[in-house]
Amino acid sequence: MAELAEKIEILADALRSSQRVAVLTGAGASQESGVPTFRGAEGLWKGKNPMEMASMEAFLADPAGVWEWYDWRRGQLAQCKPNPGHVALAELESKVEDFLLVTQNVDGLHQAAGSKKMVELHGDIWTLKCVKECGYKTLNKSPSIAKLPRCPTCEEYLRPGVVWFGESLPEEGLIQAHAAATQAEVFLVVGTSAVVFPAAGLATVARRSGAKVFEINPYPVQKKTTTVVLKGLSGEILPQVLEKMY
Ligand code: NAD
Repeated sequence: MAELAEKIEILADALRSSQRVAVLTGAGASQESGVPTFRGAEGLWKGKNPMEMASMEAFLADPAGVWEWYDWRRGQLAQCKPNPGHVALAELESKVEDFLLVTQNVDGLHQAAGSKKMVELHGDIWTLKCVKECGYKTLNKSPSIAKLPRCPTCEEYLRPGVVWFGESLPEEGLIQAHAAATQAEVFLVVGTSAVVFPAAGLATVARRSGAKVFEINPYPVQKKTTTVVLKGLSGEILPQVLEKMY
């Protein structure tokens, strides 16, 4: 078993010599920014079942209650800043010819760090859209919108632009993510427990298509698919990888 420092070199070498790189991130990538993960010890929904809040059914049953919970989350996220892991991934984008960052996070921290070539598979919490899908959509970064907002076009409720349980993922994003996993020479999995499909299956797709799969996680999960596991925090490991690349 190579030591972490050696594995950092191995990942840096692989990235340096690759033209096509795809990265999948999950809640762990934002943990060092103070955003709680879902399934860690400080699980965001600990004591509250996510299924009770993040679904259309829940919203229709109690729109104000579900909104209140999202408003609380927006307030929490508004105080979080990108961590060195986010920054390193934004930098990586500029160093690789063909790059795609696929995130399951809805917190907007990758964009805040400067990432552009990216897909938000589970949507984003700062987008508001009409619950009746009249087409109205807007970006609103206000940390608090205390009262459940209404659609200015059709007066229905607005809802957060995240993908709720039971909803389909954005088709175009999914196609892009799948294509990137298929074509990647290096596929990097950062801070995800890989239990939410289809994102969770992307590493397998990548490996079967010939990619070297690397995982960065203090509690690695991708044992079967991963070529190299870097056990630790992404905010500590990723900047070292970038430093070793050049
Ligand atoms: P998860 O909570 O299921 O798993 C987080 C993973 O990150 C765990 O394997 C954990 O060991 C690892 N981890 C914790 N700290 C880390 C660190 N500093 N560096 C690297 N890895 C670390 O999260 P998930 O797999 O993303 O799936 C949960 C779902 O919840 C996703 O659909 C996501 O959309 C949503 N979610 C998003 C956010 C966010 O936007 N930041 C936060 C919580 C949950």
